[in-house]
Amino acid sequence: MPYVKEVFEYLKRSSPSQKEFYQAAEEVLESLRPLMEKYPKYREHKIIERIVEPERQILFRVNWVDDNGVIQVNKGYRIEFNSALGPYKGGLRFHPSVNAGVIKFLGFEQIFKNSLTGLQIGGGKGGSDFNPKGKSNNEIMRFCQAFMSELFRHIGANTDVPAGDIGVGGREIGYMFGMYKKLANKYEGVLTGKSLKWGGSLARTEATGYGAVYFAKYMLEDRGETLEGKKCVVSGSGNVSIYTIEKLYHLGAIPITCSDSNGMIHDEDGIDLELLKDLKEVRRERLTEYVKHRPNAKYTPIEEYPEDCNGVYTIPCYAAFPSATQNELNLNDAKNLLANGCVCISEGANMPSTPEAVDLFVESKISYGPGKAANAGGVATSQLEMAQNASMVNWTFEEVDTKLAQIMKNIYTSASTTAAEFGEPTNLVLGANIAGFRKVADAMIEQGLV
Ligand code: NDP
Repeated sequence: MPYVKEVFEYLKRSSPSQKEFYQAAEEVLESLRPLMEKYPKYREHKIIERIVEPERQILFRVNWVDDNGVIQVNKGYRIEFNSALGPYKGGLRFHPSVNAGVIKFLGFEQIFKNSLTGLQIGGGKGGSDFNPKGKSNNEIMRFCQAFMSELFRHIGANTDVPAGDIGVGGREIGYMFGMYKKLANKYEGVLTGKSLKWGGSLARTEATGYGAVYFAKYMLEDRGETLEGKKCVVSGSGNVSIYTIEKLYHLGAIPITCSDSNGMIHDEDGIDLELLKDLKEVRRERLTEYVKHRPNAKYTPIEEYPEDCNGVYTIPCYAAFPSATQNELNLNDAKNLLANGCVCISEGANMPSTPEAVDLFVESKISYGPGKAANAGGVATSQLEMAQNASMVNWTFEEVDTKLAQIMKNIYTSASTTAAEFGEPTNLVLGANIAGFRKVADAMIEQGLV
């Protein structure tokens, strides 16, 4: 049995029932074959066996009391996956679908993503199966405080620096920071995505979405094309989606869809961004409200999507920005996109495309930016927030945005030159995986067996 296959089989035996983690690991390990053949040192140092095993996994109980005085119990997770390049860094996700396998896949992806940014950050991820939907502000606060009452002892500005992800935005980061400060008796940059009033960085909120659009721009530039005047589809309607839509408008593109877990909006005139921000960021409403203000837009509930398809990807477009969640784009969706003339996919979400969809995108040689490269702008800007906190300075929006655009350009260049080095110039999956892995692996070798 070939070496990488052997490791993968071992992984399945030693970490049972973690399907999302196997999916992420298989993609990376498969991409590494040519590197392992060319450089035997990685095998000698058992880097693959070591890199798939988190340095530390923390699983804890979170007790809290709801507004009716009833005790609630949730699971809390933090995976400190790899610290070869710096303190563990990666978001916290609060969603009922969270389990050990989901957090592990996200943490694994984060190692290579963080490496690709070229910054000194290791890989980590965490979260809870807590469902924030329908909870009052006080319930959210009590949950965040209860979650931090255990997590605080494992994190620190130079140890592990969590951020937001699905279900964790500025409000939740604020409550968790407050509790950390109280328990640790330290005011330090232990979380990123903080409010601008007390240690946050300008452009952090926008960074993941903006970064995914910059990534698409650089992919297209290499083909002599631009996004200007082009119709684009976006899925989701959270942080990443909203700022993807905003940056698309900045570049003259026309974003025509968004979605949530109940359905999608198709607004052929272009999504009304101010309305979307008001609904999602201020009023925390569902997308059904959008069409009440925009009668020409169409709302389709997921029950009416074509069978085994995501409605968003049935809409003809030039470029697509999957920005909701893992495995939201399957082979049928990939076929629909290509049949309708889509030539560019830039993934704002983590692992939004199934392996079959990824294979089709790579085979078709369209511009395909995998999540770990295309959405790395968020974590990169988190590191810029850490840098500002550590040096007690604040950069302007333009300064941070300029650095973000340059980092996205560097990630694109690194993935595409590595892909070319291994004989597949358009395969950014291969390029991103090898480029991300190589830096971490070399650091692990240089730091000895720890
Ligand atoms: P938000 O919680 O702000 O928004 C998530 C959006 O996705 C919501 O519209 C939500 O709809 C939708 N969604 C979530 N789960 C599902 C589902 N199972 N089916 C359909 N729609 C779903 O999260 P973010 O925007 O921060 O994150 C989106 C993606 O981007 C995730 O994959 C995340 O890991 C990734 N990412 C985020 C970064 C960041 O900086 N925030 C950085 C890098 C990657 P609903 O409201 O109905 O749940």
